[in-house]
Amino acid sequence: MSSKGNLSPGGIVTWLLASLALSLAGTLQAASLVRTQQEFNEAVSAARPGDTITMANGVWRDFEMVFSGTGTEDQPITLTAETRGKVIISGVSNLRLAGEYLVVRGLVFRDGYTPTNEVISFRRSRDQLANHSRVTETVIDHFNNPQRHERDFWVMMYGRNNRFDHNHINGKSNAGVTMAVKLNSEASQNNHHRIDYNYFGPRQALGSNGGETLRIGTSKYSLTDSFTTVENNYFDRCNGEVEIISSKSGHNVFRGNVFFESQGTLTLRHGNDNLIENNLFLGNGVPHTGGIRLINKRQTIRNNYLYGLKGYRFGGALVVMNGVPDSPINRYHQVEDSLVEHNTIIDSDHVEFAAGSDDERSAVPISTAFRQNLIVHRQPTAMIAVHDDISGIRFEGNIVSGSKNTPAISGLVDEAVTLTRSTNGLLYPRQTKPVGARPDLRVLERDETGVAWYPKAGFGDRFDTGQIHTISPGQDTLAAAVAEAESGDIIELEAGEYVSSRLIAIDKPLTVRAATGQSVRPILRFERTTLFEISEGGSLKLEGLAVDGSAAPDAYDNSVVRTSRYSMLSNYELVVNDVHVANLNTNHSFNFLKVSKHTFADRIDIRASRFSEISGHVVALDQEIDDLGIYNAEYISIADSSFENIEKSVASVYRGGTDESTFGPHFLFTGNRLSNVGNGKRNKNQAAVFLHGVQVATLRQNSLSSSQPVRVVETVGDPITQLSDNQFNQTKVPVIQPFGSSRTN
Ligand code: CA
Repeated sequence: MSSKGNLSPGGIVTWLLASLALSLAGTLQAASLVRTQQEFNEAVSAARPGDTITMANGVWRDFEMVFSGTGTEDQPITLTAETRGKVIISGVSNLRLAGEYLVVRGLVFRDGYTPTNEVISFRRSRDQLANHSRVTETVIDHFNNPQRHERDFWVMMYGRNNRFDHNHINGKSNAGVTMAVKLNSEASQNNHHRIDYNYFGPRQALGSNGGETLRIGTSKYSLTDSFTTVENNYFDRCNGEVEIISSKSGHNVFRGNVFFESQGTLTLRHGNDNLIENNLFLGNGVPHTGGIRLINKRQTIRNNYLYGLKGYRFGGALVVMNGVPDSPINRYHQVEDSLVEHNTIIDSDHVEFAAGSDDERSAVPISTAFRQNLIVHRQPTAMIAVHDDISGIRFEGNIVSGSKNTPAISGLVDEAVTLTRSTNGLLYPRQTKPVGARPDLRVLERDETGVAWYPKAGFGDRFDTGQIHTISPGQDTLAAAVAEAESGDIIELEAGEYVSSRLIAIDKPLTVRAATGQSVRPILRFERTTLFEISEGGSLKLEGLAVDGSAAPDAYDNSVVRTSRYSMLSNYELVVNDVHVANLNTNHSFNFLKVSKHTFADRIDIRASRFSEISGHVVALDQEIDDLGIYNAEYISIADSSFENIEKSVASVYRGGTDESTFGPHFLFTGNRLSNVGNGKRNKNQAAVFLHGVQVATLRQNSLSSSQPVRVVETVGDPITQLSDNQFNQTKVPVIQPFGSSRTN
């Protein structure tokens, strides 16, 4: 019945009767508009099958919502917004569902956080769960506990037969998995949940374990089946930590999802009988983008398309792990009876077999097939690695192209393949071959997920996107200009002296630079203990300036830039380009950059700059001292700069603990000249550069004179430390303590 125009007279009568029945039913159902928390609670208590409770538009502050009731399959109880997107839940708030056949639609959680463990929970209490219930078209946007390492979940599914679909989930910045499915009681097992058409927007690097986007189960219940289907979701730059999705239960299906430039992998961490098919992993060359990690029994991985993935080791495009013999439930079960077929892997750097092989993980994959896969790299790369005996994997009909040092495996044939783009936008071999992903693989669009009425995350740079403001020298002219500026603006300084009598708070991305055509650098002086404080939302770029610390107070622990002394949720950036910094020595321990615990930089980038006469560190990123795998900065780059008479270190970077859930810190140090660095009596590191627990360190073409040595302490994982072409004059050679020498686990 597409239109009345096609109906016979008898059909019209039927249609009229049906309409009448519907409107009669409507009169029996309450459709109440609630305006207060009390009205909401009364409407929920009175709700009967078929009722709709509509929340009035506006901001609902500090509201712990409990939506409980018993609907029926045909007549659910619905909680909705007067206008979708116009009902904002803020402050200290959350939502708990309990009962049967409940539907939540159209709410926005913003500007607040949950007082409990969850923002949306499919249970009210341990015994009151939700079943056959649905949350749809709901937004959770930056609804973060202000304490970065205070852990909570945004969505927790309990019960059975629930659905979470068409939701928009963006910007989780505090610790804790974004969304999880719990199997912690029988009533939540064999649950047949559906998670579909959601937009999982960007999640920044957490700098710690606990940044997964989705987890299904836990190791404790991992031999229990979940039967959760995760289908047609868009994971947009979900970079929290090494696992984007951690499947820890049985019989889950991951189908038709897109992982766009997301760092980490979909990991079949625990549990058996899972299926991963028809997904797209689009790394587009972004570091640490990964694909699928295979562990356990009877897993199927087929018809996936993996492109431009740069991750390595356990974060590679496709990683088949070794297991632990008679593994405890929380370690690694052997890969067994699994199937990997018809996947396409293009321009991805690492495919790993028997990964993680060591004294403990010695159980190699068995009775597993790897067939009709296509692996192509257009820049010849040693992309296939075999770490142990793989005779338990049956290779058949796979084609590899552009691989260097391909292991001799029959069933893995090296031959030239030319790729062309198909109508679905994906690359396929020019000559049809019976390998790789199917030609009609459907490509999910970003706009098919989430809701149309709430904007998805944008792209682009933090800095230099706004307007230029030119200012003149004087007292506090810079502070005034910063206060006026908008996000992304550029403040240009004419030549002369800028004296700050107050701390300048940076709570948005700003550039402060010399106006063009200056023959003399503008010079910044400051009379407080710090010049710039980067606070929540702030990032700072300094260019073409001079900074002189001699007007700072005669007090220890001064700094030019510091982060908020409190926890910061948003990662920040500090860029220092062509800046001359001198006389940070009014007292001891005067740092250029000083950070606080629970603050995290996406990037610290110093280049073409000069630092001299400093009584502290240049950059001190060493405040996470609890050895929990937490650290202060992801990427640190110091290049083409000079450092003279620095009492402590040019860089002090610390990441402690044995956790393996992060990619960083990364440290790049090239083309620098150091003279008399690290010799101050307060320099506990006794190092010019001190790196502890850094995962990737490169030190190249530096010269060190009359300085303390470079000290590197490698810890967990597979740390990469590369030193080359460095010169040491009256300076000890680097002291590297490799991982293993102090290994205790
Ligand atoms: Ca983890």
